[in-house]
Amino acid sequence: MDQMIYNLFKAPLITEAKCVLCVQPHSDDNEIGMGATIKKLATMGCDIHYLTVTDGRLGTNDPSQNLDKLAKIRREEAIAAGTLLGAKHFHFFDYKDGTLENPRELSYKISELIRTIHCDFVFVCDPYNKYEAHLDHIIVGQAVSQAVIGSSLAYYPENTKTKPFEVSAIAYYFTNIPNTYVEISDYIEDQFAAIKMHKSQLTGNVFELFKSYLLNQYQSYAIEEDSKLAQGFKILRPLHLHCITEANNI
Ligand SMILES: [Zn+2]
Repeated sequence: MDQMIYNLFKAPLITEAKCVLCVQPHSDDNEIGMGATIKKLATMGCDIHYLTVTDGRLGTNDPSQNLDKLAKIRREEAIAAGTLLGAKHFHFFDYKDGTLENPRELSYKISELIRTIHCDFVFVCDPYNKYEAHLDHIIVGQAVSQAVIGSSLAYYPENTKTKPFEVSAIAYYFTNIPNTYVEISDYIEDQFAAIKMHKSQLTGNVFELFKSYLLNQYQSYAIEEDSKLAQGFKILRPLHLHCITEANNI
C-alpha cells in the first residue's frame, strides 16, 4: 500500500532539479544538513536559493555577546558559506531568533517566495522528527510544508498578487526517516569548508564533533553499490502532505 501511494505520486530525482529553495531556520542549518548536496546540485547547473528565517542572534554561549552584532555576523556567514557551495540568491526574513510562533503567517511569506522564484524542489529541516526540540526548526518545517501545498492555490495568501505555482517536491533534511539518498563523496570537503565559514558557531571542538557525527551517518546511508558517502532526505510530493495517512511510511 505504502509503495503504491509513493508510486502514485512519485517524486522526480533531486539531481534533475533546475531550481531549489533551501530553507534554514538559522544561518548554518543548510550547510550542516545538506551542504554537499547543495554543492552537487550547483555543480550540475541548478539555481540555488537560500532562505534564512531567523537572525540567529541567540547562537552564543557568551553572556557578554552583543546580540545585534552577532545577528549581523551570522548573516555574513550565511552568505559566505552559501556562496562557497554555489548558492546565488540569498533571502532573509530576519525574525528574531527563538521568537517564531506562527507557522501560518510564516507560510504565507514562504508561499509568496515560492510563487516568485518558481523553484521545483524546496528543502527544509524535518519538523516531524520525534525528538526535535528546537521550536524554530519545528515551526519553520511546518510553515514550509504548508507553503508547499498552499502555493498552488489561486489565493494563498488571500490578497496575493502572485500566480499559483506547484513545486515538484519537498525534501526534508535532518530527517530520521529518509527515503532518498544522494551520493556526495566528491562534495564532502566543500560541505566541511562551508561549515567552517560559521566561525561564530565553532567554539571548542564543535566542528570535530559535527564532522565525525556526519561522516558516520553518511557512511551508514551509503547503501547502494559504488556509494561511499550519501546524504539522506525524506522526499514527498505536495499531494502526500495532506490527508495521506501512509506518508510517514513512504
Ligand atoms: Zn538551526
